[in-house]
Amino acid sequence: MTKRPEEIALLAESGKLLANVFGYLDQLSLIGMSTMQVNDLVDSFIVNELDARPASKGQYGYAYALNSSRNNVVCHGVPSTADILQSGDIVNFDITLEKNGYIADSSKTYLVGDVSPRVKQLVQVTYEAMWKGISAVRPGARLGDVGYAIERHARRNGYSVVREYCGHGIGREMHEDPQVLHWGKPKTGLMLREGMVFTIEPMINQGRSAVWTEDDGWTVVTRDGQLSAQFEHTVAVTRNGVRVLTLRPEETMLN
Ligand code: MN
Repeated sequence: MTKRPEEIALLAESGKLLANVFGYLDQLSLIGMSTMQVNDLVDSFIVNELDARPASKGQYGYAYALNSSRNNVVCHGVPSTADILQSGDIVNFDITLEKNGYIADSSKTYLVGDVSPRVKQLVQVTYEAMWKGISAVRPGARLGDVGYAIERHARRNGYSVVREYCGHGIGREMHEDPQVLHWGKPKTGLMLREGMVFTIEPMINQGRSAVWTEDDGWTVVTRDGQLSAQFEHTVAVTRNGVRVLTLRPEETMLN
């Protein structure tokens, strides 16, 4: 479960490339694009510009470079030519990238065009909740501390945390131990140690936490039809704190 320094260096290299993918996505005008167009652009950027591999392709029988989860879709949305992004939407792009055998995992929820203040608030609080979790990571802390920090922030703002999906260890495999729940009790759960690498990726719902999976077997939506947002980073436990391996340039201040 813990990685050697040379493995963390390789994971950081993958993470930096993945941060570049989000830099590329940031420059797209998403209005009117289909989520499949976004997928195809990201796929070719990863392969041709970064000389890396979209790790989700071929994993669990999945065919695409990203998951696109729009509005009431919680996670695992599948890109489609019929899924056209419109002003007022929010959409999460969740991307995994492998370079030199090591995988990084990150996601970001984008605001498409003019988004209402109420919806912007959901996205902002979700982003803050992820950072509350990241800030709780240090040697000697417990995974329950991480989950507690996330859920506390979501609930204070009137939102709920999806319970069926969690963060995960990551390395040569996309999903490794441990499971990282986005709720929990302080001073419970696995004790963190230097060298552990895992994702923190809270899914925060406007309404109730319940979700269900659509007939395609992938797309997870809120049961009440309200909106859901998500952000994700891959982090490593350091000697005295945390290092965000997928940190994006504009986020330096937050770390
Ligand atoms: Mn993940």
